Amino acid sequence: MNMLTISPINAFSDNYIWLIRRGNRGFVVDPGEPGPVLTALNADGIELAGILVTHHHFDHTGAVAALKDETGCAVWGPPDSPAGPYDHTVAEGDTVSVLGVAFSVLNVPGHTLDHIAYYSPAEQALFCGDTLFVGGCGRVFEGTPPQMRASLEKLSRLPADTLIFCAHEYTLANLRFARLVEPENTELANFLSACERKREQNEPTVPSQISDELSCNPFLRWQSPEILKTLEAAGRLIDDSPDGIFTAVREWKNTA
Ligand SMILES: [Zn+2]
Repeated sequence: MNMLTISPINAFSDNYIWLIRRGNRGFVVDPGEPGPVLTALNADGIELAGILVTHHHFDHTGAVAALKDETGCAVWGPPDSPAGPYDHTVAEGDTVSVLGVAFSVLNVPGHTLDHIAYYSPAEQALFCGDTLFVGGCGRVFEGTPPQMRASLEKLSRLPADTLIFCAHEYTLANLRFARLVEPENTELANFLSACERKREQNEPTVPSQISDELSCNPFLRWQSPEILKTLEAAGRLIDDSPDGIFTAVREWKNTA
């Protein structure tokens, strides 16, 4: 039985700020904009008890100060963060109690160096910011491709039914690129169709599950013979190591 209810608040053009509720108390994850958060809280009479930050980018932290001023809530985030310091600094091995439910912190550098994720085995829920997306992954801005791949591999080893609450609705573009890289993957074709139907109804495609990502996300499929073949045929293969394949797919997506 899940104790928490998790729902998206739309922000900017394609961000999801996740609202975690238990009764009339709530947490939000990565609030970039205060307005939509305050509207959602007021609509349901929710008291904001805390904010979780995954990384320093403005579209994830822009509303932290305003929400803290308005509500007096506490903020958890990574150390050495350009958007910090936060009330509570957390890193790999630490646990955050979110409305009485334990979330473990995982270090997942690559998109930024300060990037962390929050995982609850009891809720089967992962808040991974801009590291793992449905069908894709964040750009490697501050870390290196091998560092990013190691972070993704760490997330991919979570239980298959873990729900991936990422911070953007990038799914259709990601899965259309994935089809280019792995055209014969029928699970991918089916998953793309299911996600297209959701978007037609204006529903979020997030969360997916780790199992979806393992079968469809080209950034986790460095063992796929078809991806290797496609990279070779496109003259994009750097080397056939997992890091080489990941790097080649990431570079292709950057320009696709
Ligand atoms: Zn980011």
